[in-house]
Amino acid sequence: MKTKIPVAKNQKLEATIVDLTYQGMGVAKVQGYPLFCDDALPGEVVELHVLKAGKNFGYAKVLKRLVTSKDRVEGSGKEYLQTGIAPLEHLAYPEQLKFKQKLIKDLLVKAHLTDLKVDETLGMAEPYGYRNKAQVPVRMIDGQLKAGFFRRGSHNFVPLENFLIQDERIDEVIQQVLAILQKYQLTAYDETTHQGLLRHLMVRRGHYSGEVMVVLVTNQKKIPHLEALVSEIMATCPDVVSLQQNINSKQTNVILGEQMVLLAGKEFITDQLNGLNFEISARSFYQVNPSQTEKLYQAAIARAGLTGKETVIDAYCGIGTISLSLARHAKKVYGVEIVEAAIADAKKNAALNGLDNLVFEVGAAEEQMATWQEAGIKPDVIMVDPPRKGLAPSLIESAVKMAPQKIVYVSCNPATLVRDIKHFMELGYEVKQPILPVDQFPQTAHVESVTVLERVI
Ligand code: SAH
Repeated sequence: MKTKIPVAKNQKLEATIVDLTYQGMGVAKVQGYPLFCDDALPGEVVELHVLKAGKNFGYAKVLKRLVTSKDRVEGSGKEYLQTGIAPLEHLAYPEQLKFKQKLIKDLLVKAHLTDLKVDETLGMAEPYGYRNKAQVPVRMIDGQLKAGFFRRGSHNFVPLENFLIQDERIDEVIQQVLAILQKYQLTAYDETTHQGLLRHLMVRRGHYSGEVMVVLVTNQKKIPHLEALVSEIMATCPDVVSLQQNINSKQTNVILGEQMVLLAGKEFITDQLNGLNFEISARSFYQVNPSQTEKLYQAAIARAGLTGKETVIDAYCGIGTISLSLARHAKKVYGVEIVEAAIADAKKNAALNGLDNLVFEVGAAEEQMATWQEAGIKPDVIMVDPPRKGLAPSLIESAVKMAPQKIVYVSCNPATLVRDIKHFMELGYEVKQPILPVDQFPQTAHVESVTVLERVI
């Protein structure tokens, strides 16, 4: 049966926004047919211009707002919504927290897991300027080097100086470094011609230590006036303790290339989390919201219920931040992580904190889990913190074979979390405590959460 699409491209119509998508776009329904639009909140009545009418859904642009939501906050410009840096910036923060809780609830209902509860989202007191890491593309605009962002889903570059959710000192360092590079007439990369030198700037800053790392991501190895510009950056920014170059000459949107060159200082910065010291190198994953990460880890560790006698596995361990926190409350911790540099950091970090009850392996978690299971390791608790795609079915099966009492699942993607919870439930685990969302990414639509799966058979 052919269903008729109730709207056509370029049509103008009035509609009420009924929901927000997982990306924070407004949803209007026309005879049940969803139209998605930026900058529109539930309850708002808007005049729309249909941009695209696909088979199952369409996109529209808001021409005029006729009724404004009481939850709308005005303020900084629209570029944050458009770029995808802060797609929820127009929604009052308490409502952002409710949106994240509801997003998990709605997915549970869709998966027929209506018995599972979701706590209120643990939010931030000051939900701006939290990011400890920036990776910004650099382009030449009217002869000036500019940092910025690509508009969501496009190659349109939007220059920006205030990134709103980044540590303010990072925003400042970006401008200081660009001014120096401009003075030495460095060129910016142009992806259409594949010419030009500077592709991205990556800047990291320790929340407690204040130590800054700057990485110049370039298209070729040779940087003109290298010595002069390196000493000028180090003199202008005394908090930069690590200045590095990364060479990426591939035509790709992957930011970092293979080769790193140390230009000045050391290869890492140091920072603290929950009183532990961590050395963080350029390539290693490190949680971007330090104060919320402390809360996230405290929640995950409290839920693991450790007494000091347990054997624990930390899968997807990164530089060992969770592993080390666990090691203070457990007998032995096994960590696995696929990035070699991160495991090197994890080992150094264990030694740095005087902890000797950890074993770290480089590898794919799904393979290492099977290896540990075959080797007869019997963990009391397994902690998992996978990337957005969630857990491989084989990892779930190996984990269950080891029969831990608890599996603590830290998730950055509720869709794969719910899928994986279902799988664990089929294999004899239950979720008894409410799922806890922790807001790691205020002003964005990302949802982080902690779930405890307990063994029942
Ligand atoms: N628990 C850490 C890291 C979480 S991010 C922390 O809180 O800081 C997820 C990590 O999983 C990243 O470090 C990434 O490099 C790693 N990773 C991605 N795929 C993996 C895989 N198949 N096996 C093991 N680690 C993987």
